[in-house]
Amino acid sequence: MSQRSRLIRLLACLFLLVSCVGTGILAQSSAKKQVGAVGLDQDFAAAVKAWTTRPEFSSPLVDHLPKVDGIPSPKDVLGHHIGEPKKLTYYADILKYYRALAAATPRVKVLPIGKSNEGRELVVVFVGSDETIRNLETYRRYLAQLADPRTISADEAKEVIAKARPIYHLSGGLHSGEVGPSEMLMELTYRIATEDSPLIKQIRDNVIVSITPVADPDGRDRNVDWYYKYGINETETRRTGAGVPYWGKYVFHDDNRDINYSQIEMRALLDWYLQWHPPIMHDLHQSQTLLYTFSGQAPQNPNLDPILYAELPMMANFEMAQMSKYGMPGVWTHGYVDMWSPGYLAFMSSNHNGMIRMYEIQGFSGANTQKIRLGSGSRGGNQPDAAAITAGRSNQSEREWFRPWPATGEFDWSLRNNTNYAETGVLTALQYTSAFSRVILENFYQKSRNSIITGLKEVVSGYVIPSGQRDMTRVARMVNLLRMQGIEVGTATSEVKLKEGTFPAGSFIVKRDQPYARLAKILLEKQVYPDANLRTYDDASWTMGLMSHADVREIEDKAILDVKADPVAQVRPTGTVTGAGPIFAVAHYGSNNMITLRMRLRDQKVQAAEKEFKQGEKVFPAGSFVISGDAAKIRAAVQSLGLAAVGLEAAPSVPLHDLDLPRVAVYSTWGSTQDVGWVRFAFDQFEVPYDLIYKERVRQGNLRSAYDVIVVPNQAGSAKALVFDIESRATPIAYKKSEQFKNLGMYGESDDITGGMGVDGVAEFDRFVKAGGVLVTLGTASYFPAEFGLAPRIDSSRTTPQFYSPGAIVDAEILQPSHPIFYGYDRKMIPVRYANGPLLTVRTDDNPFEPPPGPPRTPDNVLMRFPGGDDHILSGLMRGAGEIRSRPAIIDQPSGKGRVIFFATNPCYRWQNFGEFNMLFNTLLNFDDLDAGKRAETSTAVP
Ligand SMILES: [Zn+2]
Repeated sequence: MSQRSRLIRLLACLFLLVSCVGTGILAQSSAKKQVGAVGLDQDFAAAVKAWTTRPEFSSPLVDHLPKVDGIPSPKDVLGHHIGEPKKLTYYADILKYYRALAAATPRVKVLPIGKSNEGRELVVVFVGSDETIRNLETYRRYLAQLADPRTISADEAKEVIAKARPIYHLSGGLHSGEVGPSEMLMELTYRIATEDSPLIKQIRDNVIVSITPVADPDGRDRNVDWYYKYGINETETRRTGAGVPYWGKYVFHDDNRDINYSQIEMRALLDWYLQWHPPIMHDLHQSQTLLYTFSGQAPQNPNLDPILYAELPMMANFEMAQMSKYGMPGVWTHGYVDMWSPGYLAFMSSNHNGMIRMYEIQGFSGANTQKIRLGSGSRGGNQPDAAAITAGRSNQSEREWFRPWPATGEFDWSLRNNTNYAETGVLTALQYTSAFSRVILENFYQKSRNSIITGLKEVVSGYVIPSGQRDMTRVARMVNLLRMQGIEVGTATSEVKLKEGTFPAGSFIVKRDQPYARLAKILLEKQVYPDANLRTYDDASWTMGLMSHADVREIEDKAILDVKADPVAQVRPTGTVTGAGPIFAVAHYGSNNMITLRMRLRDQKVQAAEKEFKQGEKVFPAGSFVISGDAAKIRAAVQSLGLAAVGLEAAPSVPLHDLDLPRVAVYSTWGSTQDVGWVRFAFDQFEVPYDLIYKERVRQGNLRSAYDVIVVPNQAGSAKALVFDIESRATPIAYKKSEQFKNLGMYGESDDITGGMGVDGVAEFDRFVKAGGVLVTLGTASYFPAEFGLAPRIDSSRTTPQFYSPGAIVDAEILQPSHPIFYGYDRKMIPVRYANGPLLTVRTDDNPFEPPPGPPRTPDNVLMRFPGGDDHILSGLMRGAGEIRSRPAIIDQPSGKGRVIFFATNPCYRWQNFGEFNMLFNTLLNFDDLDAGKRAETSTAVP
């Protein structure tokens, strides 16, 4: 640390001492309780100094804390200052602290916003001046007016801007292993409520700070349990060797990729957002050295406002300059996360004309002080990121134009260092926001206005989602997802005639003259990736219509803006039952609700038609259900699921097979549970019962006696990793519930999560298949049966390093349209998402030296293949698309009495590719009749 920064710190401390004792805090006499200044918390200053491993890892903003009679500091409630080594706080205690603080000062308010998956209360905490917190509702209304410029005139906007305050939203604990920020935010709240330095007063008077203390509280508690059970005893040479198997109920990091807000915690925050409109949302993560501040680098989504792209680096650079001034090394921007995918949580702000912000702060998943070794060749950080290295992202200890002062060498890093960096950064961001509060509000208003104006000027004027599509349940889901994000959708009151075509009354209309028109365009358009040489941090494509296999028309005709449409609150497709007969035929148009219908009618006789049939004018495609039994129950189920049934007098004259209820298991490794979580989530949503099984159950054997279908979701990345999973250690690593650790052992228990299923497990899977079971492998899990010989004729390989597909939507060609897996699909070419699944091949008996004449034969068991090549990329980026040319996308390979269904794609990707879910569901529904298509082709007989 330099003499200069020591001097700065000394002066700052002296100043604070004077100001706190002298004036400020006594002035809070209007507080709920009588409080008074005692001065600085000497105990805090000494502790923090001791826990900060080097003087330069702190700043004059955070090396002190006021002590105020009647207002509890974190230590008063938690028993320790923030950042004490080996101390992490459970969520209940975090809430307890905020509630105690809110009870003691009018400057803090706690607002409940919902419940987590495991029932924990979700809250937003507000902190500001007495006046702003007392009049929060007024300030909420100001921002709502600026968010929708149609509600006020330009002159009124000026008045509102003069009176309003920006809400700056901070969020910690989205990723449960990134523990520091949720601790820090408690201290920050206390500091903003109590400190009377000029900076904090300026913040309090000009900004309303809102806080998500822990975005995933279930995961927080599980990770804290894991830390106290294992992490706390770790040393540099003795590591546990495995992380906790779960954070939230379903997902790990993907709560920050949940573009459709499927997870209840993310949805609660979105609902809150649309009420409160914070112009800035800032997520606090941990992974980079020492603090990375997001600046919105390329590739950038061109739909977002140019103002935003200027604001982002401006704030990041201000933080970098200020923190350098305080003498803190290792603060940098650029060179990490880009501005392409709109699915990160805080994008809810920029997608709605606000500003997303993000930090990555040096930290660990626990609270131990650990050694960091930087220097040439070392990336630093605690999470080596191979993708980042191959992406050519630079060494974090190297100087770059965007990292003028890297951290170097060897040093200890403590939780308090993490707190110091995060809190200094955030206070600096708040300093900027308070200094430019009016500019930020003007920009927010202008971005909202521009969204409407751009919509009027640009070529694309809106979207029509025609009514009368075969399956309206997926259309309804899509419209509801748009509505969930605040996008205005209407239903046309009469037939719509536009340059692009004529659409029936009731069609859904999305106009671009609305504040959230940018977001509508981002979600509905095809992604045209700006530069194939640029890598992106997450998905390259997300086009909703393609993902849902639903028809969405881009409209240029300006007349769409004048189409009369009734606003849609939420679409509830009501099913219909016509005809009076006792046998109900339900057309299979690809609705994912078909499997739900089967499950709700588990006690009824449900069959599938193996061929198309007609009833009057109505065509029932192959796969349609034929149901008999309790008519009232059947009608109710069909109606509530938005399906269409006809009551027939007699069963149709086509071959039928019983849709027996499958006994389903979903297999998960202990080391890679997230993509399994997405499949579990989909199964739970569509009411598909299943057992979640691990190596423990597999090794017990007799899988066939318990299950008909085992689904192995995308996981582990390779066959070897799927089989051997977490490397065994000298001592077992248990994941079990106990009196002390109540959050462990959820969603499965294990005495030792290491070692994987091993070859014994492989043998059990093989026995399962040979004995008649159906093994379904998704995405990278399809390496497993190929490489371990469960289906000897199938081989798998990988794309070359030149291939790059961060999630593209591409064409897939259905080769065996009569196979039950394709019930409900009416096209030969369908859009599928493909990233990095295996390249599959089927060995044939053809003599390679004497190939049969004509083009290469595709074996019958290849159900679907990729045409490949650039012409078949529908959205997003796939570099080297020729590599998947003619490769199988789905294979149905018999083996013994059973079969393996290989998906090279992931038909259950996050909560997104709804058009593909049906292939997985059809596999489950028709598990013991997967040859029905062949039967239907060869037989003409009528039963
Ligand atoms: Zn994170």
